[in-house]
Parts: sequence; structure tokens; C-alpha cells
Amino acid sequence: MNYAVSPPPQAYLDITGSDEKFPVRRIYCIGKNYTAHIIEMGGDVERDPPVIFQKPADSVVRNGGDIHYPAYTKNYHFEGEMVVVLKSGGYNIKTEDASSHIFGYAAGLDMTRRDHQAGALENGLPWEMAKSFDQSAPIGPVTRVEETGVITDGNLSLTVNGDVKQDVDMSLMIWKTDEIISKLSEQYELKAGDVIMTGTPAGVGAVVTGDIINVHVDGLQDLRVRITEPAG
Ligand code: MN
Repeated sequence: MNYAVSPPPQAYLDITGSDEKFPVRRIYCIGKNYTAHIIEMGGDVERDPPVIFQKPADSVVRNGGDIHYPAYTKNYHFEGEMVVVLKSGGYNIKTEDASSHIFGYAAGLDMTRRDHQAGALENGLPWEMAKSFDQSAPIGPVTRVEETGVITDGNLSLTVNGDVKQDVDMSLMIWKTDEIISKLSEQYELKAGDVIMTGTPAGVGAVVTGDIINVHVDGLQDLRVRITEPAG
């Protein structure tokens, strides 16, 4: 292909115990998937269809490490989440077939410019500025489903500088992972390389430069991120 400018590099994730990489096609995120988090955000707790938004593939930060405090916010929040990645997809995947499309799992962070999320909601505007920005998707290495089994429960927890901020059993997800895959596939043709952040539990909060965030998901490698000086 004779591109006029150099094509961007393929975003990817590492895979535990392997030299192979997992190429990232899209990052889908699920909002409002734990009741206690919906309550802390002031929402209602009906089992509405899952809230879906996306982050750009190149917002991935592999394995954590240092990330910059982002531009354009004064209220930069962590959301610790379990991440599922797909080896195949399609339209209208049945819930009972959904697990067959899973490649593996990782610990992740849906980093959020919370000040813009609140402003967008008040004004009926998209969440884009709040959710889709550079380095907004730190994701740890992927562990294959053959090693973990299908994850339906177990601890998801997050610390900031060693203090526990989020701590939940993933069985409390409102929309389970297989249901999320099925629901997404009603709207999108899912494909290999798709990454799904499955929502955050209660306890979200702000971080500042110098803070260290650690995300733990039972059975997976922890994700550790340090916030450094603003970019640019
Ligand atoms: Mn989230």
C-alpha cells in the first residue's frame, strides 16, 4: 500500500507467559454496571440497557507504568475494571454462545475527566471529552481464558498509594460479561481484537500527580500506574 503518510502503529496488549501480542481493534466500555457505583453517581438503579461508549485503540497504555496527568481536567478519576478481550465476534451473539468468543482477561483502568462527564450530562452532550483521551485506557497483560476459566466472580479491587478505594466481588455486575457481549453485538459487529471494559464498582475518586494506582483482579496480573507531570 502506498500510504501518503506513515500508517500509525497497531495498538496491542501483552499476553502473560507468551511472546505473542493481542492486537487492539476497538475498546468498548460499559457504564453503570455496579449498583453501588450508580448510586454514588446519582443515577437510578433500574436494569436499563447497558451504557456503551468507546475509547480509541491508541489510548491503550500497556502494563501500566507512568502516565501523564491529562490536559483539560481538574478532576481526573480512576475507575478500576475487569477487561475481557475477544478472539472472534459477529452480530447477534447469543448469551449462551458469548463465552466462546473470549480470548482472555486483563485488569484495566477507565480513566475519566469527571468534570467534563458531569458537564456533558447536564447539557445533553456526548461523554467523548470525559472518556476518550490520550492514555485513558491503561490495561495490563492479557491472561488467556484457557488459564483462568470463564470469569464470573472473584475480587476486583483498586488501591491509591496503598489505600483501598474500590473492592467488590465481580458477581455483583448488573450485566454479566456474556450478556455484555450479546448486547454489544446487537449494535456492533464484534470482531477479534475487540476489548471490553466491563464497568467499575463504587469508590471512584480523583488522583493527582505522584499517585500510584494498583488494580487487582483475582487470577490476573495486577495493573500498576503512576501519575506523572502533565503532558505537553
Ligand atoms: Mn468505567
